[in-house]
Amino acid sequence: MSVPITMRALQMRGLGELVLTQLPVPQPGPREVLLRTLAATICTSDLVDLARNPFGIALPRVLGHEAAGVVVATGSQVVTLQPGDRVAVHPVVPCGGCAECTRGFGHLCQRMGHLGSDRDGAFAEYFVQRADRVRLLPDAVPAKIGALLEPVAVCLQAIARAGEVRDREVLIAGDGPFGNLLARLARHAGARRVLVSGRHPFRLAKIPQAEPVASVPKGSVDLAILAVSAPAAVAECLHALRPRGRLVVFSALPDALPLDLFATHLRELEIVGACNDEDRLDEALRCLSDPALAIAELVTHEFPFSEWATALALARDGHDQALKVALTFPDPS
Ligand SMILES: [Zn+2]
Ligand SMILES: [Zn+2]
Repeated sequence: MSVPITMRALQMRGLGELVLTQLPVPQPGPREVLLRTLAATICTSDLVDLARNPFGIALPRVLGHEAAGVVVATGSQVVTLQPGDRVAVHPVVPCGGCAECTRGFGHLCQRMGHLGSDRDGAFAEYFVQRADRVRLLPDAVPAKIGALLEPVAVCLQAIARAGEVRDREVLIAGDGPFGNLLARLARHAGARRVLVSGRHPFRLAKIPQAEPVASVPKGSVDLAILAVSAPAAVAECLHALRPRGRLVVFSALPDALPLDLFATHLRELEIVGACNDEDRLDEALRCLSDPALAIAELVTHEFPFSEWATALALARDGHDQALKVALTFPDPS
């Protein structure tokens, strides 16, 4: 398998400034694999990074962190993968040595690496990732679905942080791709009822076995998961919780906001965060090929990499016609 010297890559150079450029194909480090990209899905966080860069990504940077590809070269210490392997990729790279990693919380690593953030990502024809963050993709799972490994893993984390889901009534605030995944996974985990609040009829209709709700009566659900970056949704979730209910803060809300701690006191509510995932790669991989979850339904559009501008615009503006938008790359093999 011959690897070219340069590749096409989509590089962020400033706020709102994305440029298709030629870059050298990266070399894998000793513990890394070089991957030829097959598919990369666009995440809300790619769009937020591009528009506002709230996490202060050092530019220029190739964005993209949800991907599947083919191994084309392996580092000297890699024994688990070989060229030709078709894989799904998790973007988070825990350092393995900090206090949080030592406690077993690699997903909260103090020196965390992350594709498309502190290193170049997957909106490119090639990218590298540490081999332990990569999983073989079953033949039956298309690459554009394999790209959803990490979105599924982080949603599994949110469900785990919700605690006991079986026979509970769950509110998912937000009807985007994450809200959709969370609703499917909550049902799968045995929730008796899943309510979804959202403003997009197209997206609400894409969530099976969940009830769209405009507003949720006070004290009517056991669990609420915040899957939209809207401060008003936090109040809505707290309002909806029964006594001893739990809110999982899954979406990123970068600004501080007023919180009704009186209600939290009076009803003994719990508020917990969910960020990244505790190595739920294998569980997520099983979900990708579970027909009961039908995760393929999330990818509503795919575009060849050359049509990246159309794809990004649709992911950003197409809330009434799209969920996940995938970029696909020609497969020469
Ligand atoms: Zn993402
Ligand atoms: Zn660490």
